[in-house]
Amino acid sequence: MFNVETIRKDFPILQRKVNGKPLVYFDNAATSQTPQQVIDAIVEYYSYYNANIHRGVHTLSQEATDKYEQARLKIQKHFNAKASHEIIMTSGTTHGINLVANGFASLLEKGDEIIVSALEHHSNIVPWQMLCERSGAILKVIPMNDEGALVMSAYADLLSEKTKLVFVNHISNALGTINPIEEIIQQAHAVGAAVLIDGAQACPHVKPDVQALDVDFYVASAHKMCGPTGVGMLYGKEEWLKKLPPYQGGGEMIAEVTFEKTTYADLPHKFEAGTPNICGGIAFGAAIDYMNAIGFDKIATYEHELLDYATAQLLNIPGLKIYGTSKQKTSVISFNLAGIHPYDVGTLLDKMGIAVRTGHHCAQPIMDYFKIPGTIRASFAFYNTRDEIDALVTAVQKAQLMLS
Ligand SMILES: *Cc1c(COP(=O)(O)O)cnc(C)c1O
Repeated sequence: MFNVETIRKDFPILQRKVNGKPLVYFDNAATSQTPQQVIDAIVEYYSYYNANIHRGVHTLSQEATDKYEQARLKIQKHFNAKASHEIIMTSGTTHGINLVANGFASLLEKGDEIIVSALEHHSNIVPWQMLCERSGAILKVIPMNDEGALVMSAYADLLSEKTKLVFVNHISNALGTINPIEEIIQQAHAVGAAVLIDGAQACPHVKPDVQALDVDFYVASAHKMCGPTGVGMLYGKEEWLKKLPPYQGGGEMIAEVTFEKTTYADLPHKFEAGTPNICGGIAFGAAIDYMNAIGFDKIATYEHELLDYATAQLLNIPGLKIYGTSKQKTSVISFNLAGIHPYDVGTLLDKMGIAVRTGHHCAQPIMDYFKIPGTIRASFAFYNTRDEIDALVTAVQKAQLMLS
């Protein structure tokens, strides 16, 4: 059974007050909160077996290596990758995207085309622009419609034998839209293009199966799924990871690995130069265990109830407009109040203990589409409640009164 009150006890931070009010944390799309089970994994690492991995013969180093590699296996299993060496530990989604973009620089030719979507996070736009500058490739954009959904017929028109790469997020962080990635992947493969899916916003809500999706690359960040910041994962099909050159081939790493051992080309280490975020990787594994113990089906069902409830309640407020109204969406609501700047609303909500995000949410092209400076974004997690949504609705009404 899914019991939100029991779940909330796992999150120490949910007990705290902000500005004298109980914290209502609705900024989950920026980063999720951390359960005690994950905090314990972090404390245990630094208290009992902190050591560098893959190098030492001593007990602590072996324990740390075992735990770190166990975390990789948990990630492999969670995403259903065929092999554990197809999981590259990264510092997060941004790192994973840059790793792939950098690798493709040597595979692209002038005039090749890369397709991104209008719904992308800046971290999924800028690396491709940089790649195009370096390689002479051309960037094409799948447009969106008024609901905040991608125009799939336009995507079909963009695809051709010139298309080498397609990059789309699984779920939009700014609007919550769930993109039809199965279709996107199939159509890209039909013209021989590779696909990278940015799963940063999807992984807190769904459990992707990279083999079923037949995706070439999939990236995620631990901190959006109950893990710590500064760690994430890149899944890549083995054939692709073998083709891509190392990302951080620093002198040290090459000297050590190439001349002393012959393990240079081995996956996943080829892409893991330097001491990684060992503790973070282990805690990422703990976060995956935690979320799976609750169950992604239950999480999705519950969050959908929260989304429907909050959407209905917020739309009762006169002058409130929601951006991103696709039927396929997760528990993110981006909205504005007529005639009021989102930042002012966000500031007043914080005074009432409610954490939301205001601004362009690293997705300026989306804001440009709607011709707005930004939105107020409330994003819900499985540990949020209807009572908290009621508090948000009351607070938004108060803010509206004060600001109009
Ligand atoms: C958060 C987010 C990112 C960036 O993740 P980092 O952890 O900052 O690297 C990229 N894409 C989407 C859709 C996101 O929500």
